[in-house]
Amino acid sequence: MGATKYKNLPEDNGVEILLAGRSNAGKSSALNALTENRKLARISKTPGRTTEINYFRVNDDLKLVDLPGYGYAKSGYSRRKDWGPLLGQYFEERQSFKAVLIFMDIRHPLKDSDLDLINLCRESEVDCIPVLTKSDKLSKNKVAQAVAKVSRDLGGMDTYAVSSKDIVGFNKLMKLLLSY
Ligand code: GDP
Repeated sequence: MGATKYKNLPEDNGVEILLAGRSNAGKSSALNALTENRKLARISKTPGRTTEINYFRVNDDLKLVDLPGYGYAKSGYSRRKDWGPLLGQYFEERQSFKAVLIFMDIRHPLKDSDLDLINLCRESEVDCIPVLTKSDKLSKNKVAQAVAKVSRDLGGMDTYAVSSKDIVGFNKLMKLLLSY
């Protein structure tokens, strides 16, 4: 289901985990790998093409909520305005909203727009889960270094690395999501 206005959102029950990330971070690919169903999310090669909020049911309790990309380029901020108030409302009112997965290209993590969202999480009772994508682009050593650096920069936050190309890291991530 796609929804754009808060009143049109599905019932506020169970656990909802938001997926967020700058366009091209690899979020759609990760969603596919995470749900092991290639029909669930379309992989878009055009940055910022997704304009709706989409819900994916994992089981009776757990829903994944896909947000449009944010902050891809300076001009991309207009898109951010589109979901700004809705996201604010989500943070303030949504009981089932428990965590945000923030997808970031492992080679370019923690951009300003990522940090904005991480700060928004910190100000509320919502967990923030950094997920570094495209880990196949780096050596094992560099992946470990990147994970450690992001975790350190965020004050010791548990940080995950995944590759949608090689299907690596998703079991661990799904285990975490199912623990909510
Ligand atoms: P989104 O905009 O965040 O949803 O990003 P997409 O999932 O559409 O991916 C953006 C681009 O990165 C596409 O060209 C993908 O093929 C590529 N990509 C996504 N995940 C991976 C990955 O794990 N490894 C590699 N090498 N490329 C990836």
